[in-house]
Amino acid sequence: MTTYYWCSSCERAFPQEDPDSCIYDDCKGRKKSLFKWEDFRKQSPESPEIPEFDEVYKLDYFINEI
Ligand SMILES: [Zn+2]
Repeated sequence: MTTYYWCSSCERAFPQEDPDSCIYDDCKGRKKSLFKWEDFRKQSPESPEIPEFDEVYKLDYFINEI
């Protein structure tokens, strides 16, 4: 099963196993900016189960400490 991460820096998601940084070239998001997609969805339940590549998913706020 693929693990998806959401980057709080560029607000995009991507499939990756244990990434060290955001995969998008124009983003400088580091590991601390990345959150598991399933945790993102806990705060944004209307989001799709599988995120679209290069799609921006915004949150009004994000609780960093889960
Ligand atoms: Zn990013």
